[in-house]
Amino acid sequence: MAGCRMKLELSQVVQGRGRLGLLQEIGRMGQHSLDIPGCLLYTHLGSVPHLTQDALHTLLSLPAVTQVTLSNMAEHQEVLEEFKGGFKKFAGLHDTVLYCSLHDPAAPCPTGHTTNKTVSVWGSGGRIELKVDKFMALQKTVQPDWYQSMADGETWQTSTTRKRVRKSVDRTLAHLDECLMVHQKSQELDGVGVFGVVEGGDILEERVRSARETAKRPVAGFCLDGFQTGAMDQALRSQLITAVTKELPEDKPRLLQGVGRPDEVLACVEAGVDLFEGFLPFQTTERGCALCFSFDVTLDPESAGTATLTVPDEEQHTPRETQPNRDLNWDNQTHTTRFEMNLKHKRFQDDFRPLVEGCGCYCCRNHQRAYVHHLLVTNELLAGVLLMIHNTSHYHSFFRAIREALANNKMDLLRRRVLENGKE
Ligand SMILES: [Zn+2]
Repeated sequence: MAGCRMKLELSQVVQGRGRLGLLQEIGRMGQHSLDIPGCLLYTHLGSVPHLTQDALHTLLSLPAVTQVTLSNMAEHQEVLEEFKGGFKKFAGLHDTVLYCSLHDPAAPCPTGHTTNKTVSVWGSGGRIELKVDKFMALQKTVQPDWYQSMADGETWQTSTTRKRVRKSVDRTLAHLDECLMVHQKSQELDGVGVFGVVEGGDILEERVRSARETAKRPVAGFCLDGFQTGAMDQALRSQLITAVTKELPEDKPRLLQGVGRPDEVLACVEAGVDLFEGFLPFQTTERGCALCFSFDVTLDPESAGTATLTVPDEEQHTPRETQPNRDLNWDNQTHTTRFEMNLKHKRFQDDFRPLVEGCGCYCCRNHQRAYVHHLLVTNELLAGVLLMIHNTSHYHSFFRAIREALANNKMDLLRRRVLENGKE
């Protein structure tokens, strides 16, 4: 990759237990670093939903990489072209690495609109069809530090045939070659990293072929697409990701798209994934919920069973969230999980505890569940602000706990702790 000087220093690789390390010299100026396993900062047009920059920066250890979505960028292409300074400057994001993905992991993406030459993205104004030249023109305008190459990822539905999966792998490789050709000639994109996309649906040979072929190209990292929650069960996902990551070079990061649930994140880390999209705090906040799962491996194992159960909560134990159903892909992603509590519920109206005991976020230090419940039922905007502060903080602390567990050989204990959440 011409000019892309990112380095991945692995401090630990344990077979079947994940990779621990540091991505160094990332960003076009090479001034940032990111711990792996880690997660990106999820945004809408560069801003974390509900939070001002001030509120956001009350949070400790925010990731160095901010994710934006091309669909939003495409809608503002003309303005950005006129502005000329790139999206980071446009949105006032000065101290971050900007990663531009094709789709928003927290928004539904209708299928049936890809062709050999085009992919479609959905903005607030509807569908935008992109050919390679338009896609690359957008990247030159946005000037991210990393971007996801064009890809045909419509293979997660249950009716997808082997032939269609093969076609998606072929198309995605052809798109990547075309993107790289434009990229390498472009001065505007000097120093920018392209993430090649691994497709292949649920077919092992196609996954391996896609990974092998993508790894031959001069990419900075890899996006693993088509594994999103609801697309397949975790056993199959782990098996496929393990096969894929075996084919990928050790020194480049692997970003998994569309997986955010803590139990699934842990299993995917163990299969060799380095990076995740951080959309779960936003989805949880939109449901009026607070993440409350425990990941504290320092708790006494004897008492952990009760200590970790912040909110045993019958209505959260819907059978659907544990049953993968490929036709319910989107529904599955938006459903309340056992890792959160629904603060709209009436029983919180006189619950004067913080959202999570011991949490150091602004919300938990200053407010109680009863207050957030009140804000939710009266539709106050502050409800979203407080929940987003807590959820973002909780989720990023979870990733810190994963790194500590890898460093201290406590992944088994961490997995047990996370799986205990919500058990009766
Ligand atoms: Zn909190």
